[in-house]
Amino acid sequence: MTPPRPESDAASFLERVRAFEGRHSGPPTEARDEVNKAMIRHWVDAMGDDNPVYVDDDAARANGFPGVIAPPTMLQAWVMRGYRSQPGGSWRAAADEPGEPSPQQELFDVFDEAGFTSVVATNCDQDYLRPVVLGDLLTVSSVIESVSPEKHTALGDGHFVTTRLEFTDQHGELVATMRFRILRFRPQAARAKTEEPLRPRPAVTRDIAFFFEGARQGTLLIQRCAACGRLRHPPRPACASCGSFEWDTVTSSGRGTVFSYVVVHHPPVPGFDYPLPIAVVELEEGTRLVADLVGVDPATVRIGMPVVAEMVAVDDELTIPMFRPVDAVLPSAAADAVPSSAGADAAEEGAA
Ligand SMILES: [Zn+2]
Repeated sequence: MTPPRPESDAASFLERVRAFEGRHSGPPTEARDEVNKAMIRHWVDAMGDDNPVYVDDDAARANGFPGVIAPPTMLQAWVMRGYRSQPGGSWRAAADEPGEPSPQQELFDVFDEAGFTSVVATNCDQDYLRPVVLGDLLTVSSVIESVSPEKHTALGDGHFVTTRLEFTDQHGELVATMRFRILRFRPQAARAKTEEPLRPRPAVTRDIAFFFEGARQGTLLIQRCAACGRLRHPPRPACASCGSFEWDTVTSSGRGTVFSYVVVHHPPVPGFDYPLPIAVVELEEGTRLVADLVGVDPATVRIGMPVVAEMVAVDDELTIPMFRPVDAVLPSAAADAVPSSAGADAAEEGAA
């Protein structure tokens, strides 16, 4: 059997894409507007950034600036074009080169032809050499810096493409640089149509990993401030009451009541069954969480309904807490309900 992609193919493909290293992604882009107060104000309003040096000349001067400065992270806002002014891609349709593909577009076409049709941004690092100030007119130029050998990633096999962007002012002086890395990858083969689609994965960050690990082990955990003891959910790094970053967890009894709920009919998302009752459950410990309701006719869900947690393995990789009306649980099981799959099995038997 010939493997689908012999080493020599991969090597010659890498050589082909690496030929783009060092080339400009496309023509430089000049900002449409000078750096101005109105755009800065809209940005800080949208971001909720209340640093006065971005809006107040006196505050800026008190901090050693000549007047208000632009937020450094606003860098790209000055040079970005509207989506509709870029048919087909950010560099493809330079106004002065209609129809002429840029080197970056050529590179992406090579990836497309080889099946690396998907893209995800992975890194963005910016270096600020001086504050951007009112009246600056920025220009960005971009060079394809490197293309990695083929890598195996959770998304699929692909190549990392790193571009280096240089932002210069109206005098040609460098004000900032940016490295932007993307992964061009082959999407993993779609699951067979006969297979049940998986539920969307939750975003498991370091803050919330304990919650899903607890669920996997059959416990419903609530984060607790180690300084003042206050419980909180959803998990987050610091206590809103005392500001402490120290925390541990307590195991919930799993008992609670329906605080609020919806029954979702539309739009249908693969991996879920409809109609889908979803509740905000108030646990007896006091915190609330959003979860599916199971073992209940959606038409009979009521606010205040007593429910008990069970950990449901929705597939091989994901276990999440769901809640079942206490009425649907065996009286003996409800009395000492523990949030575990064993409890769920008992409930199933009780229902049968
Ligand atoms: Zn606290």
